[in-house]
Amino acid sequence: MAKKKVTTSVKVWTMILCILALIVGFIGAGFVYIYVYKPESDTFVSGDFEAHFMELGNQYAGDCIYIRSGDTDILIDAGSRENSGDDIIEYIDQYVTDGVLEYVIATHADRDHIAAYEGIFEHYEVKTIIDFPLTNKTGDDETNILRTYYEYRDLEVENGAKHYTALECYEESVDGAQRVYQISDSVEMEILYNYYYENHSSDENNYSVCLMFNQGDNHYLFTGDLEGDGEEELLNYYNGSSEERYTLPHCVLYKAGHHGSNTSTTAELMAVIQPEYVIVCCCAGTSEYTTDKANQFPSQQFIDNIALYTDNVYIPTMINPDYVDGADSSVLPYTSMNGDIVFSVTNGEVELSFSNNDLKLKDTEWFKENREMPDAWK
Ligand SMILES: [Zn+2]
Repeated sequence: MAKKKVTTSVKVWTMILCILALIVGFIGAGFVYIYVYKPESDTFVSGDFEAHFMELGNQYAGDCIYIRSGDTDILIDAGSRENSGDDIIEYIDQYVTDGVLEYVIATHADRDHIAAYEGIFEHYEVKTIIDFPLTNKTGDDETNILRTYYEYRDLEVENGAKHYTALECYEESVDGAQRVYQISDSVEMEILYNYYYENHSSDENNYSVCLMFNQGDNHYLFTGDLEGDGEEELLNYYNGSSEERYTLPHCVLYKAGHHGSNTSTTAELMAVIQPEYVIVCCCAGTSEYTTDKANQFPSQQFIDNIALYTDNVYIPTMINPDYVDGADSSVLPYTSMNGDIVFSVTNGEVELSFSNNDLKLKDTEWFKENREMPDAWK
């Protein structure tokens, strides 16, 4: 009898241990799935409209934004250096499984917007290319980067892509060019009219293709590197006339003009669009254009102008504070700020997700050390 009792309790204990082992196994497997095997794309929320602001793998300012809505995939710019292409393609391929980009937009002819297009045009089948009507980089001033862009764009057109300049989208005579493209059930992509599509500017940035995405009452504005005088012309065209014409609306999302430069994001434009979320495509604190710290991207002036409307300001990359030039070569000169940033909207609800952290610009160490806190953010 005593012997049987022992056997029973051994069986019970064995069963309990087995159940515990199973529970531990399930938790362990879940952990491994979430933290080891989970594909990167699942770390971001998906939505009816998504704008992905990518890290570009270097310490330079540059634009590269992947947008998807429904079955439509769009790439706006392919900065900032030729070798950004690998990072961009690896990122986009998480989402684009058919190898097709329905739209490619090249906003203007500066290197940090078109640098990696050779790789992009080689890797993807592009259906429609919309780019800048004007550039000052002609004749002897044409750069190798721009020549390469033209070459690979034209090859894509030979292979069946449609190509329009942003100005042609305003000329009904050009077959297929449209001002507004319906990209999904709920979202349209509108090519905005920019005065500098057909007028000379001494500043290449003013030739930028400007876009508005409209999703019901939500609007998302992308102005490339448009400068203050370009913003003024945009306001004159849309909001400065008594003619009944579309007016620039309040914008839930604003891609900061010209990487957060002190020469864009004017108080006048901000007063009209009053953005709620602002993403700055730059490497915070980069000295590539100026050693004047206040004007390094994102500039103090940009911050002061935007602060009146929102503190939801995010940036993919920053200068690595641990980097010392010429010292340990394993320390890179750049590091993640928010990392890859995804702005996603479903049924009017905005969600943001980040590959690194969700700190607002004003809460970052970089900001505290390099910028003055505007009153509106105190
Ligand atoms: Zn730029």
